[in-house]
Amino acid sequence: MQKNRRLNWAPIMFLALCALLIAAALLFGMRALNTWSEYDAESRITPVPTATVHAIKVTRDPALVTNTPAPTALYMASGSAGAMVSELQEILLNLGFYTGVVDGQFGSGTRDAVKLFQQQHSLTADGIVGQMTWDMLHSGQVHRIEITPTPPATDTLAGNIPMLVNRENPIPEGFYPRNLVRIQDVAPEGLFLYKIRNLMAVEEAVNALIKMVQDATSQGIYPWQISEGYRTYEDQKDIFDNYVSNFMEDGFTRSNAVSATRQTVADPGQSEHHTGLAFDLTVPGEFFSDTAQYAWLATYCWDYGFIMRYTDDKQDITGFLGEEWHVRYVGLEHSKKMQQSGMCLEEYLQSLGY
Ligand SMILES: [Zn+2]
Repeated sequence: MQKNRRLNWAPIMFLALCALLIAAALLFGMRALNTWSEYDAESRITPVPTATVHAIKVTRDPALVTNTPAPTALYMASGSAGAMVSELQEILLNLGFYTGVVDGQFGSGTRDAVKLFQQQHSLTADGIVGQMTWDMLHSGQVHRIEITPTPPATDTLAGNIPMLVNRENPIPEGFYPRNLVRIQDVAPEGLFLYKIRNLMAVEEAVNALIKMVQDATSQGIYPWQISEGYRTYEDQKDIFDNYVSNFMEDGFTRSNAVSATRQTVADPGQSEHHTGLAFDLTVPGEFFSDTAQYAWLATYCWDYGFIMRYTDDKQDITGFLGEEWHVRYVGLEHSKKMQQSGMCLEEYLQSLGY
């Protein structure tokens, strides 16, 4: 037994030594790993140095080696910084392409300005300043920014007949009426309440509205609030999209939400408010159809060149539910004829052969 026990000591010692070596190796390895991960984490948070204007060396033909320094290719792009970027910004600013600050930082504003400059100087519009762009900036061919002309304004009161805007007769995107004025600038102070600041409309229509509401007010019918006047295509798109998303939040499918919206809201391009000749008149806190203002308007608006544009009985023709608050300026000649005939605008224009 004793002999056997003594014989067993050597392998045990060997195994213990092995275990000790493995443990030491593990410990060392973990420390090394730890150091590495610390370094790695550190290197991740170390900011990448800002790209600066740098010159790329162009390889020269050894046969042509002289003592003159190697020619360099210029390169400036987003992230570049320095005095040359400032110079670039300064030039683009003077030519009208750049509207930002001259700070020597090549950001998105500088890039867009470079792109526009390149476009208008028949260069590849990549927003990168290479030698060609740089040379062009300093050449005699350089010219100021060319502004794309905006489409001309439309006289919505021109012609012999009132302008028609509805589902079948939309106006194009980019359309805008001539002679728009800010109602607050033209109307006497206190005559109107304004639901929206800076409401605009066509001057002649605003003047007719002022006269009408002054007369109503002098007869004791007030206050009058203007809720809507001229609306842009983009305004109408926002309104329409808002209605659709509200219906969808209530569980409507998209197509059902669009149909429901179309009951009361015109698609972009199909609203009469684009003409600058329509107003929504309201009384704060009241249903307009219940007010004395509405009763007065429905009786007398015709005497001032206005029509009640959307009435319940013409819903099938106009495509809109009755809107007691919506008046449209068509001019006195037409408003009186329409009052006498009882026709809505679509019927009236048809009767005239349009
Ligand atoms: Zn309206």
